[in-house]
Amino acid sequence: MGVPFVDLKAQHKPIQQELDLAIQDVVDSTTFVLGPAVQDFESDFAQYLGVDHAVGTNNGTTALQLALLALGVGRGDEVIVPAQTFIATAEAVVHTGARPVFVDVLESTACMDPAALAAALTPQTRAIIPVHLFGQAAELEPILDLARARAIPVIEDACQAHGATYQGRRVGGFGIASCFSFYPGKNLGAFGEGGAVATNDDHLAARVRRLRDHGQSQRYYHAEIGYNARMEGIQAAVLGVKLRYLDRWNESRRSHAAYYREWLEGARVRLPVEAPRREHVYHLFVVRSDDRNTLREHLTHQGVQTGLHYPVPLHLQPAFSGMGYRVGAFPAAEAWAREGLSLPMFAELTRAQLDEVIEGLKSHSLVANIH
Ligand SMILES: *Cc1c(COP(=O)(O)O)cnc(C)c1O
Repeated sequence: MGVPFVDLKAQHKPIQQELDLAIQDVVDSTTFVLGPAVQDFESDFAQYLGVDHAVGTNNGTTALQLALLALGVGRGDEVIVPAQTFIATAEAVVHTGARPVFVDVLESTACMDPAALAAALTPQTRAIIPVHLFGQAAELEPILDLARARAIPVIEDACQAHGATYQGRRVGGFGIASCFSFYPGKNLGAFGEGGAVATNDDHLAARVRRLRDHGQSQRYYHAEIGYNARMEGIQAAVLGVKLRYLDRWNESRRSHAAYYREWLEGARVRLPVEAPRREHVYHLFVVRSDDRNTLREHLTHQGVQTGLHYPVPLHLQPAFSGMGYRVGAFPAAEAWAREGLSLPMFAELTRAQLDEVIEGLKSHSLVANIH
């Protein structure tokens, strides 16, 4: 049979008619770029997050870049990012002209280590980007405290954490701005690319709106040099439909995670840690094994697809080799890269599929014990 890593067809099938109608509306209106569908989604998503503004963009990477630019980050500035995340977090910093400064992550959650952050602050630090990695909120309270004491803005990278909560509130409203990706495989995914910047700051929202649309706030009057980073109407229409299901889907992911936990007790893998006072939405269910590569091969052989998020931490990526970081610089990030294995995780996983994954892991444990 086999278990796919994600199955978007299974997500779309039960809501196909709603999606088709929403897309047809955009086609009929011919407002393919920005327009009413985007405005509707922006206000629905802002309301969902409990923030004043959401500004739709063409992807999550530009959402991060525009949030940084709108804050005035640029050449000569430092922006602190975790060493273990998707490269976009740091790439966005580089594209503003600023320098990403990597810090280690926590051994427990793989999110930014507040102590490492404290040690990395300098007079050049102009922003901090904690990442709610794998669908779980970062250590927001200590991070926000450190930032507040020095008046440094915090931008949440919430690209993997739509609907995740921290102390009972959805992430996305804790920093001065937060950035989301609607890449198809994210917990809330478009039929292509999409992203958003969320904020309670009126000026910041207006600046991001302007930057995403060629620096204009009135047609063909350009206050500054901007970008073409607009959200498409069809993507907004799809997202508007899917947003209504997001909480249900996250609930399913959480119950699959609980099932994995229950049945993987005693298997030779370390299960993901749920940190206190937050609700993990399991964009990814990442286990750790000191035997990761053979475990992955074994599962592939059993028909169970897995993923690596991420096999090389940012400070050791060839793209950042010029920065002079060495192996051993960030031991926790390196351990996550070496040992992390993402198991199949999506809302529509069936009991039979979950059992197949669990059997696959247990049969590896048995094999490993015999040798
Ligand atoms: C997906 C992702 C991004 C980038 O989003 P895109 O829409 O793919 O550009 C940024 N940060 C993290 C942590 C992500 O997972």
